[in-house]
Amino acid sequence: MNPNEIDIHKELKKYFGFDQFKGLQEQVIKSILGKENTFVIMPTGGGKSLCYQLPALFQEGTAIVVSPLIALMKNQVDAIRSVSSEDGIAHVLNSSLTKTEINQVKKDITSGITKLLYVAPESLAKEEYVDFLKSVKISFIAIDEAHCISEWGHDFRPEYRNLKNIIKHLGNVPVIGLTATATPKVQEDILKNLDMSDARTFKASFNRPNLYYEIRPKTKNVESDIIKFIKQNKGKSGIIYCLSRKKVEEIAHVLQVNGISAVPYHAGLDAKTRAKHQDMFLMEDVDVVVATIAFGMGIDKPDVRFVIHHDIPKSLESYYQETGRAGRDGGEGHCLAYYSYKDVEKLEKFMSGKPVAEQEIGFALLQEVVAYAETSMSRRKFLLHYFGEEFDNETGEGGDMDDNVRNPKPKSEAKENVVK
Ligand code: ADP
Ligand code: MG
Repeated sequence: MNPNEIDIHKELKKYFGFDQFKGLQEQVIKSILGKENTFVIMPTGGGKSLCYQLPALFQEGTAIVVSPLIALMKNQVDAIRSVSSEDGIAHVLNSSLTKTEINQVKKDITSGITKLLYVAPESLAKEEYVDFLKSVKISFIAIDEAHCISEWGHDFRPEYRNLKNIIKHLGNVPVIGLTATATPKVQEDILKNLDMSDARTFKASFNRPNLYYEIRPKTKNVESDIIKFIKQNKGKSGIIYCLSRKKVEEIAHVLQVNGISAVPYHAGLDAKTRAKHQDMFLMEDVDVVVATIAFGMGIDKPDVRFVIHHDIPKSLESYYQETGRAGRDGGEGHCLAYYSYKDVEKLEKFMSGKPVAEQEIGFALLQEVVAYAETSMSRRKFLLHYFGEEFDNETGEGGDMDDNVRNPKPKSEAKENVVK
């Protein structure tokens, strides 16, 4: 089919029921239809999946989607099947399938029914699968969560490094990489490791104009400061991130005895308790969840009004993801982090047990957090600059939404405020 003849708005409505594309989706899809290597950088929730799902659904052949998490793949396959009368339209190919199931998948692909084939990178390394895929028509290969290819990303997976070789075996098919990691270093790594420096790149803005960024020095009064903040924001939903499980329990307890409805959440709790606490937060039975970074992946509560970092995060990437859970509905979102250099030293000590290369990357990422916390310039400007985006506080949306812009202080004083 000639891509110019396809009414992609009609297809969007038909398969997903949406009237409009979000952000850069339309341009991305046109690039894919033009058979170009394509690189998509959009924040979480930006609508990356649709960028490859839609063109896959109406193009000839099967699109291979590489994704790191089996649970994530299953969700997507279920969602696609629900809009089609044909179960074979989407499949997952992995080692948990029986021989009969694998044969069914192969049959559906060969007969042209299957439009989307989800695979984990390690499955794609299997010779048997590669040989089979070489023999069928592939529309394109989408690499979701492409930052997994980079050691500078927050979720490095060595199997992603092998993808380049496998892709070569599959012949001349367009590749589309997608990620929510905006740092130029990770992007460079992705393009290099997927051998697609020629890719057309589409990068959405990472600015979140409704979020207010604030750093406070971490003193021994941090707990009473947090309690005061929450009491001033009575009835609003919020998340408090702590580095350790122990701290999570401590803070949750302190809040509870001070009359704040709060529950703890960390990987040390059994699955049932975790699910219960998460539901209590989502259903608004409690206002506050005190959590380690184990909390939040895939949580979509639109009206989280504040995110507090009791301890500074390991990287600005994590900070952006975690604060990004505030104000999803476009309403108020206060992002408050407590900073002390002692915490930095603590994190450095944690890292010292790791392999040298990992340590070096860890230290470098942490130094950026330190610079962010200690800066007297606009936090938003700093953060967006870190993501390779220039921001003008005069003209940009949310230009006055951080402590340094609202209450500018001379540099020397800014330094003194930091508790070492
Ligand atoms: P990402 O992978 O970028 O984090 P997803 O692909 O999971 O984001 O999409 C996030 C949400 O946006 C989903 O709920 C999806 O249904 C919705 N979405 C995607 N495209 C559109 C659109 N064109 N119109 C409305 N909602 C959309
Ligand atoms: Mg996604």
